[in-house]
Amino acid sequence: FAALSVRDKCTVVQALIVNTKLSIIALRTMVARHENLSRRVNGKEKAAVVLRQDFVEHRCTDSCLVFVSEAHLAGLRPDVLLLDEVQQAEIFSRLQVKSNKRKSVLQTDSPRKRLRLSSTDTVNMSGSDTTFPVILTQDEKDQIVREFRASTSNTALKRYECSFCGKFELASECRLRLTTDLDISLLERAVVELRERSRQPQIQPFGSQSLVNGSYVLCHLCNSAVSKKSFHSIPLRSYAN
Ligand SMILES: [Zn+2]
Ligand SMILES: [Zn+2]
Repeated sequence: FAALSVRDKCTVVQALIVNTKLSIIALRTMVARHENLSRRVNGKEKAAVVLRQDFVEHRCTDSCLVFVSEAHLAGLRPDVLLLDEVQQAEIFSRLQVKSNKRKSVLQTDSPRKRLRLSSTDTVNMSGSDTTFPVILTQDEKDQIVREFRASTSNTALKRYECSFCGKFELASECRLRLTTDLDISLLERAVVELRERSRQPQIQPFGSQSLVNGSYVLCHLCNSAVSKKSFHSIPLRSYAN
């Protein structure tokens, strides 16, 4: 699942509903991962338009779960939310019990019954869509495995050390620049001055061990101090600062 703020979850849901033509099957499986939504009304499966409208009105909570792939469709690049089994069971039971209670209360006509239902924790467990544990479809299981593999693969976890500040950053966030292609004279001048002022004759503008195939590695912060072929300012956390 994607580690997203409640606001981002809402953004993803609205983007999916507005911009993509989700099938009724996709909508139904999505319902199970969002709080206070139910795929049925009065024991009958809701139609696609109804589910869509439910999602349009839906406001995500901490319990709602969004797949990384769904976030990608909405243009977000979230971290992966790794839940252990206990946390997962907790979230699912929260999702299920709440939607169950609401449904049961809504479906009960007599006020006395309604009162009884809300005053006890016994939940009407009819309707296989709302019983716990939730049985995921094979597709959803495959997707979870795929997302887990993708986010724990060597490429996804690979980190480089920034040549100019020493920060370890995900390889995908780093920029590589050929040493012949980037003018670092600004940093060199700053380092010459620093060596004298701070009496540290060893200071270097970059860590030579961090070079990758003759290229400097730039973390996103150091890279933001580069325009075209040279540094326009000294990066905040760099050795030269
Ligand atoms: Zn939600
Ligand atoms: Zn850096």
